[in-house]
Amino acid sequence: MKVALDIGPDLVDKFGFDVRTADPVEFDEHAEAAAKKLAKARSQHRSRLDALHRAIGDSKKPGGHWGKSDEQTLQAAHEWVMLADGGAASEATGARIRQPLRDTEKSQDDVDHARQQVDGLEEAFRIRGGWNRAFLVSNANGHVHSSTSCSTCRPSTRFAWMTQYSGADEGTIVQDAGHRACTTCYPSAPIGDSRSLPTKMFTPEELASQKERAEKESWAKLTPAEKRARKREEKLALAATKNGRPLRFEEDLGEAGVLRLVISTEKDAEREWSRGIGDSINLQRTAGDVTPESVALRQDQQARADARARMRPTIAKALAEKHGTTALEEKRRLDDLTRDEMERDFPKLAACFEADGEDGYVSR
Ligand SMILES: [Zn+2]
Repeated sequence: MKVALDIGPDLVDKFGFDVRTADPVEFDEHAEAAAKKLAKARSQHRSRLDALHRAIGDSKKPGGHWGKSDEQTLQAAHEWVMLADGGAASEATGARIRQPLRDTEKSQDDVDHARQQVDGLEEAFRIRGGWNRAFLVSNANGHVHSSTSCSTCRPSTRFAWMTQYSGADEGTIVQDAGHRACTTCYPSAPIGDSRSLPTKMFTPEELASQKERAEKESWAKLTPAEKRARKREEKLALAATKNGRPLRFEEDLGEAGVLRLVISTEKDAEREWSRGIGDSINLQRTAGDVTPESVALRQDQQARADARARMRPTIAKALAEKHGTTALEEKRRLDDLTRDEMERDFPKLAACFEADGEDGYVSR
């Protein structure tokens, strides 16, 4: 046994759930998420490594392989940065390589962490004695296997976890897999085809295209009037207001011109919210670097940002009416969305994030 699985509450911290007591389905949903995370970390690491190869001047040979190995590339990058730090190579060289090297080291850490999670969960699975699992190969007519290490699969094979079958007895899995059951993994599986042994197991892609097909078919059966009604319903569901009509704003800001705004959908409302708050924060953040030339422009920007702030309570009220919530709840929800988006895309803005006061949102 490589990893000692100490019984303690820190296991919950490590994996985000209790690996000792979770039922097979819940356990495997986490294991599947961990496997996906690892695959994503690996592919990101691969593209970071490729960028590093380019940064040190490596090029791809016919056949698509890099001239140097990844190890040689990392070593060369470290050496260049060391030389640049010591003044023995140009600072331009150091600057070109330093960031890709840092990025690659970070993505390596991500891969290592994700790998630890996957291995830890696999170890916990083993220590608990394991249970039946079903994996469906994610290509057309893929088979269902009991593990991802079936001898009939290749290392590059992609699997969809059939987590709803985790812990099920083999008979159920074989029955529901139908013609897709791998006879190496499930020796009891009968031989047949999609007609004689129909399957109940489908990949997420197959399910999505089945759903699309079903929707198309049901749409085709509708009368023109029903189609119009359906379209109206769909439009109403997306609209920013309960009656589906757009919110229109118009305010004369004097020197700064007329601010006109049309918000038709909830998406528009969210976008307007984050843009408006982003502008306000940015103006505040850059208040220190005003130059004589920028004064007039900033005044206009400020007038527009202030006008947008005055429109926000109306937006929140419209959404509240539609959702049956309160304007304050909508305000807080949109503020949270905005903050999350900034943290993802503009961390510098997120650090200065400040929501409007709540006074205008409390209706009496
Ligand atoms: Zn198999």
